[in-house]
Amino acid sequence: MEELRMTPHHDNTADTPAIELADVAFGYTATPVVEDISLAVSPGEYIGVVGPNGSGKSTLMKLMLGLLRPDRGRARLFGVPAHQFDTGSRIGYVAQHASASKEMPITVREVVKMGRFPHVGFGQLSADDWAVVDEALDTVGMSAFADRRVTELSGGQRQRAFIARALAGEAELLVFDEPTVGVDIESVAAFYDLLDVLHDDGITVVLIEHDLGAVTEHAERVICLNRELHFDGPTAEFVDSDALARAFGTTTAVLGDD
Ligand code: ADP
Repeated sequence: MEELRMTPHHDNTADTPAIELADVAFGYTATPVVEDISLAVSPGEYIGVVGPNGSGKSTLMKLMLGLLRPDRGRARLFGVPAHQFDTGSRIGYVAQHASASKEMPITVREVVKMGRFPHVGFGQLSADDWAVVDEALDTVGMSAFADRRVTELSGGQRQRAFIARALAGEAELLVFDEPTVGVDIESVAAFYDLLDVLHDDGITVVLIEHDLGAVTEHAERVICLNRELHFDGPTAEFVDSDALARAFGTTTAVLGDD
């Protein structure tokens, strides 16, 4: 993997954070929607990002991924300025409402195959590439659906297909923005089981999730956001802290939201 993905830009020393934000501020207008954000995510961590609606979670994620550029401060991915990072390689991003509407009526295997494109250039996929594709399908439990069109999949199955595409691309960092919105309860449980497996395999996971229970059950570290960071630390400490009440205003609002 290293030999395929190494470019002169990549800084692959072990202590290089997967994600690094240093004193980041950003606003769509003159008013910042996130500010004073400094944090680092180490390779292999499983982070949950929580906060009320409109607290800047999606914005923070886009800043992390270099899809937005900070007005102030800096954002780095694997040691590289985030906006310069080739996200086609080491990163899988599953956006909110990963919908079928924009997808071509192609099969699951063809979607997953796309994950290999950064590795094969304009060439054909080799037998080894196809083996990676099949392994990715197997990891997410979608082998039986490989020839199904993505437009025919349920929300949960589609999520898996997108994760498999990222795995086929040898992604080291998976970023999810409210991945289980519109996904049935059984598939949600299976989805979180899959994330646990991927995390155990050493993949870095960043999860924006409105379901606080899912975050506190699965993530090992919580970032609680409301324009500024209200908490950043181990999940157990978060559960015992008053960060939620501070970020959400009142705890009743949180319970009501559920
Ligand atoms: P969250 O993901 O926590 O719900 P967002 O990052 O989506 O929060 O939004 C933070 C704030 O920025 C909100 O006030 C939202 O209305 C605003 N916002 C988000 N996207 C845009 C945009 N493209 N243009 C202008 N304002 C935006």
